[in-house]
Amino acid sequence: MPSSTPFSLSAEPNVGSIISGGLLSCCPDTSVRQACTLMHQAKVSCILITDQQTVLGIWSEGDVRHLDISRDELLDQPIRQVMHSPVHSIGAEVPLGQAANMLKHFRVRRLLVVDEALQPIGVLTQSDIIRFQGVEHYLLMRDLASSLRRQAMIVPDSMPLSQAQHLMSDEGLDALVVSRADGEHGILTERDLVAWVAGTKGEVAGDLASYPLFSMPASASLMVAVQQLQEQHYRHLGVTDGGDELLGVLSYSDVLANIEYEYVNQLRRLLDERDSALRLSVEHLRLATQVINASLDGIMITDAKGTIESVNPSFSQMTGYQQHEVIGQTPSVLSSGRHPESFYHNMWLQLEEQGYWQGEIWNRRKNGDVYPEWLTITAIRDDDDNICKYAGIFTDITDRKQKEARIQSLAYYDELTGLPNRRLFTDRLKLAIANARRHHHQVALLFVDLDLFKRINDSLGHLAGDKVLREVAKRLQETVREGDSVARLGGDEFTVLVPETDEVVGLERLAQRLIDAIYAPMEVNGRALFVSASIGISVFPGDGKNEEQLLRFADTAMYRSKELGRNKYRFYNTEMSDRNRQEMRLEERLHHALANRSLDVFYQPKVDLATGKLKGMEALLRWHDEVLGDVPPTQVIPLAERLGLIEILGVQVLEKVCAQQAAWADRQRVPIAVNLSVLQLGSDDFLSALDRCLAQYQLPPGLIELEITESVFIPERAEAMLALLEALRERGIRLSIDDFGTGYSSLAYLRKLPINALKLDRSFVEHLPQVEGDVQISLAVLGLARGLGLEVIAEGVENEEQVAFLTQNQCHQAQGFLYAKACPADIAQTWLSGETITKRGQ
Ligand code: C2E
Ligand code: MG
Ligand code: MG
Repeated sequence: MPSSTPFSLSAEPNVGSIISGGLLSCCPDTSVRQACTLMHQAKVSCILITDQQTVLGIWSEGDVRHLDISRDELLDQPIRQVMHSPVHSIGAEVPLGQAANMLKHFRVRRLLVVDEALQPIGVLTQSDIIRFQGVEHYLLMRDLASSLRRQAMIVPDSMPLSQAQHLMSDEGLDALVVSRADGEHGILTERDLVAWVAGTKGEVAGDLASYPLFSMPASASLMVAVQQLQEQHYRHLGVTDGGDELLGVLSYSDVLANIEYEYVNQLRRLLDERDSALRLSVEHLRLATQVINASLDGIMITDAKGTIESVNPSFSQMTGYQQHEVIGQTPSVLSSGRHPESFYHNMWLQLEEQGYWQGEIWNRRKNGDVYPEWLTITAIRDDDDNICKYAGIFTDITDRKQKEARIQSLAYYDELTGLPNRRLFTDRLKLAIANARRHHHQVALLFVDLDLFKRINDSLGHLAGDKVLREVAKRLQETVREGDSVARLGGDEFTVLVPETDEVVGLERLAQRLIDAIYAPMEVNGRALFVSASIGISVFPGDGKNEEQLLRFADTAMYRSKELGRNKYRFYNTEMSDRNRQEMRLEERLHHALANRSLDVFYQPKVDLATGKLKGMEALLRWHDEVLGDVPPTQVIPLAERLGLIEILGVQVLEKVCAQQAAWADRQRVPIAVNLSVLQLGSDDFLSALDRCLAQYQLPPGLIELEITESVFIPERAEAMLALLEALRERGIRLSIDDFGTGYSSLAYLRKLPINALKLDRSFVEHLPQVEGDVQISLAVLGLARGLGLEVIAEGVENEEQVAFLTQNQCHQAQGFLYAKACPADIAQTWLSGETITKRGQ
């Protein structure tokens, strides 16, 4: 739920409690142009003209449309010549309802609010009234269609500004819809005219209008519309037929006018009906008693002083008080303590003056529960027209309020975290962009994605996953600044919207703060969990021109930062978008290659260091594309993983290798190792594909070896993997751990895993025996392997010094360019002679 509801409950506030203060004033000799500049800078809609504390007049942005803004002499005249005087003012203590009547009576949009010493303390506007008058029931019942007063005035964006201004003045409009050649609608308001007078450049309507026009369908409720207008600080709203057709423009004035006329009329009608029904019931007492007793509404009758005389069964059911417990008491036994004294005071005042009161009120049941009810009180008069009784009729609206709140929150908020959902986020982003366009600042979008979140879900369960998401949501919210907004788009994807930003450094700091906040340990199921996140950042207008682009680019930047290593942030820039296009082409070609089975496999020998003979081979993916040329596996594999194509690719490689083994059946037989992606290990399909291949080519399982990258063995996952690895081992498939030393293997787990060999990563072998650190690590790996009874294969062996070091320290096998690069099958075939493998250059 949003932290503040835009409407108060029915306790009618007074004017002083809702105005925000902050008055702008100038002296009578200020020019119209200067006054506009002041208003534009302060972002306010009116200015007071004062002379030594005395308020002489007021001038507002609505007045600008009555000036011919193309005439300089009119803009240079002193403001006193055009100001409105006297200024209608109102005391701070006056109730809002009365203030609304005054606005209507004087036909003005604002009133000056003064304190007891008649000093100005603020301005009350129509929108304040709508926000605080407690008219939510009415707003909820109405849709936008019923509030439209006239069709929108649509003008082309090429219309000269002065003509647009004349039009607004002649037609009495406070805004025009501006239509662009591409069909997009924008809005030009009085505020834009003020901005123009204040010096903002522009000649035609399109130069100053804001795009796009914020619109909602005619079927939307007036309440949601008003709420959106308030949240976004907009005063106009396009009303559509639900599609592209613009039916009209709705402004605060329309909403207020509607409330003033229709709402009050409706209430009167309703009350008159109830009034006469009640009068009738008094006359027909027996009938009345029956009606009252049968009523599902709670009913209470008091005498003229407010002492309770009778209540009906529904009253007892709702409040918990039996008739005998309340007779003789006043209704204050039900008081919840939530309303101030003045609330009841005003209620009685209205009852005496107008004979009825209706509204929402919080009462307390006998058991202490506080609940909202919708209450109508009607004064009943005797034949001499004196009030002799009051009848109160009420319904418990707890249910309805809960439903309303829930409907509202489901539509715009994510249930799990309480954050705005994608819909609300997109709305906010759109508006932020429109605002930025108008005021020439930048908007930044941070796309936050948790790293390896699936792992948490898989290993700790969905409940723990949910807990992590809620915690992350909370931390994000605590970390952003006021004005920034956090949303959850779904899954583990969050966004942070920075609606106004001027510097990159600030964004960098924010991104780092977010990363740090998420990375702090999190307690889940009694253990400390470290969750990291990757962030991509895009900026309007530099990166993207609309919300769709900004989101897409931030997402791309996020992926890029994941590739660079997790727990990082990264800005989107054009270099990235080029990459994206390149990647799309790559994607298309990869689909093509898989469909045509045109991926190839090359083989690299593994050599026994003691004898120099062939011990095995490793199958390495090779892809030569007719358009793209050679694409290395380091590019293909991650892409296939991202696109969900890795399983198909893996099976094609496996099939090729099995077919090759079968073709070499009459030669020396050595195991061929196939590399496995982590993602393949996740599915049972892999096991069945393997069984199928072995059966089809009648291969002994010992001829296939699997290389699994070390990162698979992260502790949380290892338990699940273990079963699969056991199943492989049972079939007699050899397993080795690839790139050993670069990942996070837990030694404890290593001992439990059913593996045969470790492959010492090339990064350690590369600088042997010169770099001491690498020497130590290599020795440690060799020692460890010996202890566990595992073989060690050194990767990336390129020279004799490495061979000497490895042989001396009892490493079993070597693989590397010194012997051969990965070669096509016809060359690999020549190694199958049983001879020692010739080193290159020998
Ligand atoms: P890897 O499994 O660690 O494979 C060894 C990589 O090191 C190969 O690169 C190989 O060509 C290269 N290499 C071997 N000896 C030397 C040497 O002496 N010096 C240098 N500088 N490099 C050497 P390649 O073929 O580019 O493959 C890269 C990675 O792509 C592989 O690393 C493996 O993780 C992955 N990969 C390759 N084929 C497949 C496949 O069919 N499926 C899967 N899932 N991954 C594959
Ligand atoms: Mg490998
Ligand atoms: Mg390797």
